[in-house]
Amino acid sequence: KQIHVSDRGRFSTARLSAMEEGVPALGYVVENAWLGQCLWQGLDKDVISWRCPAEVTRMEPLPDGYRLTLNDETVLECDLAVLADGGRSGLREQLGIGVKTRPYNQSALIANITPSEAHNGEAFERFTDEGPMALLPLPDNRCALVWTRLGMDAQRLATLDERSFLSELQGVFGYRLGTLKQVGARHLYPLTLVEAEEQVRSHLVILGNAAHSLHPIAGQGFNLSLRDASALAEALLAGPAVPGNLATLQRYRERQRLDQNLTVGFSDQVTRLFGSTQSVVALGRNLGLLGLDLLPPAKRWFARQAMGLGTRPDV
Ligand SMILES: Cc1cc2nc3c(=O)[nH]c(=O)nc-3n(C[C@H](O)[C@H](O)[C@H](O)COP(=O)(O)OP(=O)(O)OC[C@H]3O[C@@H](n4cnc5c(N)ncnc54)[C@H](O)[C@@H]3O)c2cc1C
Repeated sequence: KQIHVSDRGRFSTARLSAMEEGVPALGYVVENAWLGQCLWQGLDKDVISWRCPAEVTRMEPLPDGYRLTLNDETVLECDLAVLADGGRSGLREQLGIGVKTRPYNQSALIANITPSEAHNGEAFERFTDEGPMALLPLPDNRCALVWTRLGMDAQRLATLDERSFLSELQGVFGYRLGTLKQVGARHLYPLTLVEAEEQVRSHLVILGNAAHSLHPIAGQGFNLSLRDASALAEALLAGPAVPGNLATLQRYRERQRLDQNLTVGFSDQVTRLFGSTQSVVALGRNLGLLGLDLLPPAKRWFARQAMGLGTRPDV
């Protein structure tokens, strides 16, 4: 319902609120396992055949489609292959599709935290000289922590005993949610901006993190991938009956180009601005946050980018 943005050790804060933006929520925090269950239940099993667990070990282009080989040696042929095997896509590499990468030299530490006070649907984004952190509201008064730190430091935090970890986190986050009482399993994600140099070929689309893997600071990667998937579905429905038709796939790519460029650019700029420890940048950020809170148009622009509506003047 609200997002509280603050800069540790500096005076500025900004508050975004769903009510001010005239929306039911600024965003939703969705747990991956729950989402997976919902999607699985939603599959029309008369139309879709499903193999899980399974690994695609090989993809070969055919004149009119792709041939996939699974790890149990099953072979499947299709008119259109959608490659969505994540940011470190081995299949993308196998197909000779290059990537542009920009390492951030940071890792994101992820864990669930239970605070003593109610979060009331408020998310916290806090910038510190050591990197940004977010605490996002989950059901049962838990919070999802995304804590970005330099690689070695994130490793250290991941292996600290529970009490020392919570005490260090409390020191950085403060007492806005009372005492941080419990931490669940901690996971580390090394962060690199990865962009595939090609996203469509005849009978092939690269989707999701395999196409663009962003810094999680602005929480846009999954949202962008959903918009890509939706645009692809629309292009396929509007195009000729053969789903792998290159012209149709290029139309999809062109339609999503601006959205992808703006979203990747927004995440990268926010990372550089809010991840920086340089005092000049930090001062600018501090003034920026202050301006954000005082200038309604700036605040509205930022809220729309954060909601993933930056390229949707119609919404
Ligand atoms: C710390 C963190 C926080 C984030 N927070 C947000 C957020 O708040 N909002 C947001 O919008 N996004 C967020 N993201 C981004 C989001 O997680 C990704 O954009 C999203 O997971 C991409 O989904 P994907 O399916 O493309 O890739 P992945 O989630 O990486 O999934 C790839 C899948 O492919 C499978 N696979 C791999 N190889 C093969 C193979 N050969 N055969 C078969 N299957 C294979 C893998 O097992 C995996 O299940 C965050 C990311 C991180 C790291």
